[in-house]
Amino acid sequence: MYRLAEVSTNIIDQCVAQGVPFAREYGGLLDNRSFGGVLVSRTFYAKGQTGQQLLLGAYSAMNRQIGKGKIKMYSRHEMLDLVKVDGKARGIIARNTVTGELEKHSAHAVVIASGGYGNVFFLSTNAMGSNVTAAWKIHKKGAYFANPCYTQIHPTCIPRSGDYQSKLTLMSESLRNDGRIWVPKHLKDVEAIKNGTKKPTELSEDERDYYLERRYPAFGNLVPRDVASRAAKERCDAGFGVNETGEAVYLDFASAIVRYGKEKATILGEVDASTERIKALGEKVVENKYGNLFQMYEKITDDNPYKTPMQIYPAVHYTMGGVWVDYNLMTTIPGCYAAGEANFSDHGANRLGASALMQGLADGYFVLPYTIGDYLAGDIRTGPIPTDTPEFDDALNDVKARLEKFINNNGTKSVDSFHKRLGKVMWNKVGMARNEKGLKEAIAEIKEIREEFHRDVYVPGDMYNLNPELEKASRVSDFIELGELFAKDALERMESCGGHFREESAEEDGPQKGEAKRDDVNYAHVSAWEWTGDPSAPVMHKEKLTFNDIELKQRSYK
Ligand SMILES: Cc1cc2nc3c(=O)[nH]c(=O)nc-3n(C[C@H](O)[C@H](O)[C@H](O)COP(=O)(O)OP(=O)(O)OC[C@H]3O[C@@H](n4cnc5c(N)ncnc54)[C@H](O)[C@@H]3O)c2cc1C
Repeated sequence: MYRLAEVSTNIIDQCVAQGVPFAREYGGLLDNRSFGGVLVSRTFYAKGQTGQQLLLGAYSAMNRQIGKGKIKMYSRHEMLDLVKVDGKARGIIARNTVTGELEKHSAHAVVIASGGYGNVFFLSTNAMGSNVTAAWKIHKKGAYFANPCYTQIHPTCIPRSGDYQSKLTLMSESLRNDGRIWVPKHLKDVEAIKNGTKKPTELSEDERDYYLERRYPAFGNLVPRDVASRAAKERCDAGFGVNETGEAVYLDFASAIVRYGKEKATILGEVDASTERIKALGEKVVENKYGNLFQMYEKITDDNPYKTPMQIYPAVHYTMGGVWVDYNLMTTIPGCYAAGEANFSDHGANRLGASALMQGLADGYFVLPYTIGDYLAGDIRTGPIPTDTPEFDDALNDVKARLEKFINNNGTKSVDSFHKRLGKVMWNKVGMARNEKGLKEAIAEIKEIREEFHRDVYVPGDMYNLNPELEKASRVSDFIELGELFAKDALERMESCGGHFREESAEEDGPQKGEAKRDDVNYAHVSAWEWTGDPSAPVMHKEKLTFNDIELKQRSYK
């Protein structure tokens, strides 16, 4: 964290130099705004698209290097195994997903930067292709996997609409700067809204429960993501969810529209502006700030969020756990590194907004270029690594056998049907709130899904061709194994901690009643899991955490 804080300003400078259009103040300096979990404005941003703009900046910078011949790009290739020679990472086996051909690639060091594993839940805000395979394959070759149960559930996503959905959409956290979250105070109003006899806009202020403002007066709607997500679940579990599935709360911009409208009218000298005029002026301001998000929401839901409150519900968004790495970002396999969301470093059990790309960019721009150089210094006399060796042949044959098994399985059920089943178990029993009984059931159910998957999955097509079903089968097989480890990790951690909420470990009384109760005496450690060859029998190693500069204590957002 210390190093990340140190290099964080360099990241902003680097991105500005790459052309990321960060917001600026009138005087030309970069602007800051507040974000969930903090009471001060300290986040650099680019409208409601910071993440996207940072990615575009990084992609264009990388493409420039590809153009110069400094990077060789292998698009539409999937890493399917790591090759170790004399205990060191020396290359990978990749599949060309267009031709299906398996390829050997050798290297003096290997970096995994394959992202997070939120799609183990099937539904998440992650891209559909996001998967755990690369991280899981190096885990199976000796890299420890740390804190797999640490998942971030983001509070502001468009609610699930039904069973035939494969993706969830994030509404940026920036919306909580101006939007107020509420549900009706009375169940009769919930019913009236659900059966269409009342509209949310018809409820008076007195009939609304702005539950975050009520429960957390200091932070209000800007409590961190884990707290906001759990509070939404608590209200919906109590029957106050406002849509058909009962899993939705309101994010309302009406107050912000009036506030901004009045400000604008004053600036324009329109002292007698009508309510309609004030609203129109306010909507314009809100459109300037969040127009892209409002348009996306309207396209997906067919509701106009300027006129009626948005519906939102928490969804899986980011995974703080991942491949264990040391201070140099090296895994427990010499010469194999993990960067970005794929590793477990920096975030702990909770992640505040805006820190993911900061960490990924720090890893890529300011850590790995130095630490890999240090490692390679020991290999200065090693020439090119040949690929016509038994190690590469064995790894390639293993991958081939695995894929052939899927093609020849001739089962009866689709890959997605298993992924969906896994996702349901994960969401219901290993999701936002977990307890011992549910976790034990989940472990048993995931084991059953794994056995049935290998017995009965059907993968059409062949191996040496474009075959998305085969790609999915290989990924889902890894997700299932990860899911079991994930549930085991959650079961072992009997405290509540950040995004990991154990129902048995909640404050029972006092001002923090119902909030997460941590146990720093027994759980101030990283749980780093070692693969043993049996997905049900991993070995856990504890890395003790020591804190020099901060005091460990319960968080309070009251
Ligand atoms: C909707 C959304 C909005 C977000 N907004 C923000 C934000 O505003 N600010 C912020 O800080 N963070 C944000 N995040 C989080 C942040 O975007 C991610 O944490 C970050 O992109 C992770 O970067 P990464 O390079 O580690 O992995 P990714 O961006 O996931 O990239 C991994 C790459 O590896 C490839 N890959 C995966 N497996 C293999 C394999 N086996 N072989 C070959 N290639 C493989 C993938 O195709 C992908 O291209 C957001 C995330 C989402 C989903």
